Amino acid sequence: MGGEAEIKQHLQPKSLPSETTEKKQHNVKRRRLWQKVKYQLVEYHALPAYLRDNEYIIGHYRSEWPIKQILLSIFTIHNETLNVWTHLIGFFLFLALTIYTATKVPSVVDLHSLQDRLPDILRKTDLHKLHSDLMSRLPSSPSKWHVMELLYNCLPERFYHGNYTDMCVLHSVKEDLANMIAPLIFRPITRWPFYAFLGGAMFCLLASSTCHLLSCHSERVSYIMLRLDYAGIAALIATSFYPPVYYSFMCDPFFCNLYLGFITTLGIATVLVSLIPVFQTPEFRVVRASLFFGMGFSGAAPILHKLIIFWDQPEALHTTCYEVLMGLLYGLGALVYVTRIPERWMPGKFDIAGHSHQLFHVLVVAGAFTHYRAGLVYLKWRDIEGC
Ligand SMILES: [Zn+2]
Repeated sequence: MGGEAEIKQHLQPKSLPSETTEKKQHNVKRRRLWQKVKYQLVEYHALPAYLRDNEYIIGHYRSEWPIKQILLSIFTIHNETLNVWTHLIGFFLFLALTIYTATKVPSVVDLHSLQDRLPDILRKTDLHKLHSDLMSRLPSSPSKWHVMELLYNCLPERFYHGNYTDMCVLHSVKEDLANMIAPLIFRPITRWPFYAFLGGAMFCLLASSTCHLLSCHSERVSYIMLRLDYAGIAALIATSFYPPVYYSFMCDPFFCNLYLGFITTLGIATVLVSLIPVFQTPEFRVVRASLFFGMGFSGAAPILHKLIIFWDQPEALHTTCYEVLMGLLYGLGALVYVTRIPERWMPGKFDIAGHSHQLFHVLVVAGAFTHYRAGLVYLKWRDIEGC
């Protein structure tokens, strides 16, 4: 029986090759057409509830696409394209800044500015310690001994005798001397708070970019991605405190630990609160913004404290200017995020470019960059002054 069936099957006429190709082509065409319909951008009202967030952005939504199409959509135009790219470019900017900081900033002591400030700095330095440091570290070549002689004549006994010593220091301390004593007086201080901030910024920008790209895949992915986004924002805000708090209060461990502990706890609490499902609903937009804004605003306390302690220090004022500018940029970002300006004035006109979330992203990158500049001022200040 089985053999008979096998023979019958074998004898059945096979379809002609041209017919098969036609069928195949037809199938390919059908599949392409289906994909075109399936992966077309949709309007707000056609979205599932979990993807509805901003009713003023009317069209150009991707909805429940497969991961492959979503990943490819990074290079196509839809209403999240600029949201993805603004923070992706921001991420690469901070990656470049981190590499720059790691390779160039250790030589933050600029010898030319150092020569101008040297007499002033030397006055504050423990000269007896410097002298013994020099004695133990300088190699005994004749030219170095000349430098030793210079130092010995000027420092430390005659240093306190007014103008004569100042003139002596000003005229004698040449670049080679500055070169030699700089590493002895100015030991680079720890960099970890600055790198923590750079890491926090990169994590926030990359998490946000990924969230905007992938969230439209499914409800589950959207839920995970939004949590990641909130965790990124909390990380950026918390780590933004590390350089100003650490470098302002590095000589006062009590306040240093108090402020760092407080902001780290607040950051973790914010991430935990964001895990509650209701937190991501559109009705909670104001609560979300307020929580992050409040977290950032608590930075006013250590900054005011720093100003009181170091009111006569130019670096304290300089960094505060950057911090105020950063606060304005973040504050403006939060305001734009909550009010959804400008799309609320002309719904549908800013779907692709110019809507509030894109402006918010640009303001966040600008704010973080301002903070980076402030961080460099702190490093230079503490490298030179120490505690
Ligand atoms: Zn975003």
